[in-house]
Order: sequence, then structure tokens, then C-alpha cells
Amino acid sequence: MGLTVGVTRDDRFVEHKTGHFHPEHPRRIRELYRMLDRDFSGRVMEFQPQPAALEDVERVHTPAHVRRILKTAELPMTNLAPDTPVSAMSHMAAWLAAGACLQGVDLLMEKQCQAFFALIRPPGHHALPDRSGGFCVFNNIAVAAEYARARHNARRILVVDWDVHHGNGINDIFYENDRIYYFSTHDRMLYPYTGAIQETGAGPGRGYTMNIELSREFTDQDMVYLYSRTLVPVIRGFAPELIMVAAGFDAHCDDPVGRCFFSENIYARLTRLILDAAETARGKTPLLFALEGGYEPPALVRCVGNVISELTADTDQIPQIPDSASPEALDRVGRILEIHQPFGVME
Ligand SMILES: [Zn+2]
Repeated sequence: MGLTVGVTRDDRFVEHKTGHFHPEHPRRIRELYRMLDRDFSGRVMEFQPQPAALEDVERVHTPAHVRRILKTAELPMTNLAPDTPVSAMSHMAAWLAAGACLQGVDLLMEKQCQAFFALIRPPGHHALPDRSGGFCVFNNIAVAAEYARARHNARRILVVDWDVHHGNGINDIFYENDRIYYFSTHDRMLYPYTGAIQETGAGPGRGYTMNIELSREFTDQDMVYLYSRTLVPVIRGFAPELIMVAAGFDAHCDDPVGRCFFSENIYARLTRLILDAAETARGKTPLLFALEGGYEPPALVRCVGNVISELTADTDQIPQIPDSASPEALDRVGRILEIHQPFGVME
């Protein structure tokens, strides 16, 4: 038996217009919804979100930032940052994107779903408390993590960010927090050029941020090996009550923005690895996925489809973990263990 899986579906996400040549365009979400009809009809529950409430957004964002977003409704097109254009209805999509993640948290914490995929736009992981950027308006995952703490008393939340870019927003917002663990793998030669391996958190949050820089030479096997030796011990040691995945798919080989060479299979394998370590099928840790990047729609559709297939498939499958990896991947794992094992959070 597969898991009980919920997904977000709302045509208002298409109303966030970014211009003809922008990679984060409405076709991404349109094609994902078409895939739901084609491949998952009757196998997942679809949910239409409500906009997030102001108090929920303001646990993370400043009132000035919120005012700036609302003001964009007055113009047909404007820019929140040089790379982040918005249209008159974008603010609505942004409130709905955050709201979809809150709805996912409610459904998971109330045990109506075991896994939830917020198929939303704009993305969120680059958004800072007072600033948009990197195509992101509100930090959907950060807002949802604070909501899970405030409304559902979640004591430990793990955020796994496999988007090819470093989620500097999530990283910064929770850098001094020992209740929300941030794990990210990313290409540091890309925007926003942050997330060095030595950045491990500060104050009480020291040891609760794991930044892993990817090599462009890494293969699918390397990636699975890397996650099995770093993320899995974090899941076992930190024992989160909720896992959120900042699910960007721009590390795929066809992606026009990323520079990595992973196939769509990697996302099925990483999902299986997380499901197994989190013991989701046995009712332990629920999973929330929130769409981040992924800019080649046919590849994006295959990647998201692989994640949802894995969630709805027979949950007793054992993840296939390679015994070894390339010398560079082995070296990266060695460095991470050397830096992080002394903190005592990993098992
Ligand atoms: Zn990205």
C-alpha cells in the first residue's frame, strides 16, 4: 500500500506572470497539473489552498516586506528584485503558495495525509524576512515551519533542500535555531553563491545547518551515496516530527539554469531514502514537499512525477544504496562527517 498523498492544485498560480523570457513561467505549473490528470487521477487527493493569514506570514517576514508585496497589485508589471518580476495578480499567487504549505502542514499534523506536495509558484527558498529575490516572494517553507511550531507544537522540523541553488532564505532565517534543522545540497558557483560547507549554524543553532557543496561531476550514484551518509544519519539523530523538502528540480541534466547532470531517477531514489529513514509508512514522520525551481517543463514533469510515484508506490520497498562512490564524493562525505560529527546531532 502506498501512502495517503495530498497535492495542491489551483489555477490562480498561472496568474503570476513573469514575462515571456523568464524561466519561472506559468507553463511549469500548467504542465504539472496536466500530469496529475494523466498519471495520478484517483491516486492522490487534490486540495485548493486558502491565502496564508497575515499573522502566519509575519512570523517570518517584516510588515514592510508584506506592504511592498501588496503594493505590486497596483501595476501591471513591476520588479521586486532585478531577477524577480511580478504582475498585478502575483501577490495573490504568493499568498496562496504560502497558504498551500500551511494547508499541507495541517493535513499532515492532523494525520489526514502522510505526504503532501504543494505544487505552487512563486518558489520561496531565497526569500529573506525583508527581501524578495531569486524568483521568490514569500519564503513558503519558512512560513510553514514556523506555523507548524506555533499551531501544531512541532518540536523538531527538518528542512531538506535539494534544489540546485542554496536556499539562503531558509538558511539565514533558521541559522540560530536548534528546532529547525536545515540540510542543503547545492552548486555554490550559482546564485546566490552562499552555503559554504563550514556554515553550520550559530549560537544555539550551531550544528543544526548542514551545507553540502555539489561537484558538477557528481553522478546519480554519488548523490544517493552522499545523502545516505549525511542526510540519513541526520534524520536518525535529530528525529524530526515533520520533514519539509524544498523540492527544486533544477539539478536535472536538461535544466537551462542548473549546471549539474542528474537524471530524473535521482528524485525517486532520494524520496525513497527519506521515506525509509523517516519511517513515514509506519506513521512516524510525515513529509511536506514544496515546489521550488526546475525550469525545463518536460524534465520538471518527469521529476515531480517520479516523486509522487514513489510516494504512492508500495511503501515496503528498500532503498538501493551504492556501496561506494567517486573519489570526490567520498572526499565530500569525509569532510562533512569531520565537521558535523563533533556536534553530536547525527546518529
Ligand atoms: Zn533553484
